[in-house]
Amino acid sequence: MKNVIIFGPPGSGKGTQSQYIVAQYSFLHLSTGDLLRAEIEKKTELGLQAKKLMDQGSLVPDEVVIEMIRNKISNAKCPGVLFDGFPRTLNQAKALDEMLDKMGQKIDLMFALIVEEEELTQRLIKRGVDSGRSDDQSLDVVKKRIQEYNLKTKQVAQHYEQKKVFFEINGMGKIQEISQRIKKKLDSLT
Ligand code: AMP
Repeated sequence: MKNVIIFGPPGSGKGTQSQYIVAQYSFLHLSTGDLLRAEIEKKTELGLQAKKLMDQGSLVPDEVVIEMIRNKISNAKCPGVLFDGFPRTLNQAKALDEMLDKMGQKIDLMFALIVEEEELTQRLIKRGVDSGRSDDQSLDVVKKRIQEYNLKTKQVAQHYEQKKVFFEINGMGKIQEISQRIKKKLDSLT
């Protein structure tokens, strides 16, 4: 079983590229953002708490997302897992490593989609218009999310760089071209 992290700032195309990967490789797609939005949809207590933070562009507490992931990976039966939007802090990365270690597994690959900051903002605002996603509606919230990424999430890359499983992928250009770049890397794993 392979464990792969798709990494990058908000708007770098993680969700879009994840769809291609899970379809092609039959991986389990674990997006903490999607899991949180499902909680909001179901109007659970957790969802209501998370929504406040998400709508401000802040991260939700580590314990919340770590427990969500723990529940999902413990009984995963598939060729691989694709982590999308997780881990987003060093704490989350360490918790994930520990969970996998207990299962005799590890992160096999983390790839980061590299996109210029100006393009990120444009993509997010466009997504806000197209999809109505509440945290893509305001420029301030979009900026806050990019700031959270720079402050808390970026360092997760270094953590996996030290483990020699980190790779950068050019995230600019056509969706299909980017998918091909990712495929090349994933094919070299198996
Ligand atoms: P995403 O769909 O990955 O862009 O996530 C949307 C929002 O959900 C983020 O801006 C955070 O508020 C929250 N979120 C998603 N994943 C995490 C995570 N791993 N840690 C903390 N907050 C998260």
